[in-house]
Amino acid sequence: MLRSVILAAARSPRVERLVETAPISRDVVRRFVAGNSTDDALRATRELVETGLGVSLDNLGEDTLTPQQAESTRDEYIRLLQALSAAELTPAAEVSVKLSALGQKFDEKLAREHAHAICAAASEAGTTVTLDMEDHTTTDSTLEILGQLRVDFPTTGAVLQAYLRRTEGDCRQLSGAGSRVRLCKGAYKEPESVAYQSKLDVDLSYARCVNILMSGEGYPMLATHDPRLVAIGENRAKWFDRSNDTFEFQMLYGIRPAEQLRLAEAGYTARVYVPYGTEWYGYLMRRLAERPANVAFFARALRSKN
Ligand SMILES: Cc1cc2nc3c(=O)[nH]c(=O)nc-3n(C[C@H](O)[C@H](O)[C@H](O)COP(=O)(O)OP(=O)(O)OC[C@H]3O[C@@H](n4cnc5c(N)ncnc54)[C@H](O)[C@@H]3O)c2cc1C
Repeated sequence: MLRSVILAAARSPRVERLVETAPISRDVVRRFVAGNSTDDALRATRELVETGLGVSLDNLGEDTLTPQQAESTRDEYIRLLQALSAAELTPAAEVSVKLSALGQKFDEKLAREHAHAICAAASEAGTTVTLDMEDHTTTDSTLEILGQLRVDFPTTGAVLQAYLRRTEGDCRQLSGAGSRVRLCKGAYKEPESVAYQSKLDVDLSYARCVNILMSGEGYPMLATHDPRLVAIGENRAKWFDRSNDTFEFQMLYGIRPAEQLRLAEAGYTARVYVPYGTEWYGYLMRRLAERPANVAFFARALRSKN
């Protein structure tokens, strides 16, 4: 219920204005977002890489409405990749890209061309790109663009969401040799017709998808903070006799940092998804929706400023 309310607010321009201008928002945002600028992103990346973690950087922004905005997102990613390469932070750092930030909602071809330019810059920088997955109305389009990008850039990563009923089938399709697939639970408000609604059903789907990906020939990227699912991932790695360079764990910046380090110290590849930039509203609301304790944290911060 609370999750639905927060995810509905995530799409409300009125609530967005309220939250963005509240003086406390900065403090809460700092917990989940590395900063506003490319320099902030580089600093956070360097700190994480020095502790043995990998990074995937996300230039915040989504649902872009104009070609100018889409172009400036493309250019920021290209600048970021050049800066990462100059700082010798590749291949430890890769980038995560939302096609909606590149214009997918109004011109799929434009979004594909921009994504292609970002993949080319990543390849030049010695690293790669993962295409974030957004709400279910974009899944087919995103997977189609992924297929086209993989012709020239075969290491381009996909994201599949375990809450969608279709995802076990997509996991089978994408579990071939060399296919990088990030498996997450899914962060959007989706109707029952396309998505499991209960936590148990989503978790069971996640476990089934782990089995498909870990028994396949691709490179699974298990993105979850859920202790039981991380344990299942570790177990399946042994069961399917996978060496630590054939799969990885992923978590979000600011969430379970001690567990991120534990995984790296245990010899696994562990990658942190690091968002940066000023367009943090949608991202923050999805993080609040995931965990009531985060809403309490937000409310406490509000009270302490009054
Ligand atoms: C690297 C990465 C990339 C992602 N990319 C996408 C994407 O492209 N598309 C998409 O739809 N979703 C994406 N997600 C988000 C994902 O779908 C989930 O919404 C999110 O990860 C929470 O699910 P969970 O698996 O951690 O399990 P949950 O059941 O939400 O949480 C399990 C436990 O983890 C801890 N935890 C979880 N979330 C939080 C939090 N916000 N704050 C503090 N503790 C927390 C708590 O201990 C909680 O009990 C991504 C997640 C990760 C880690």
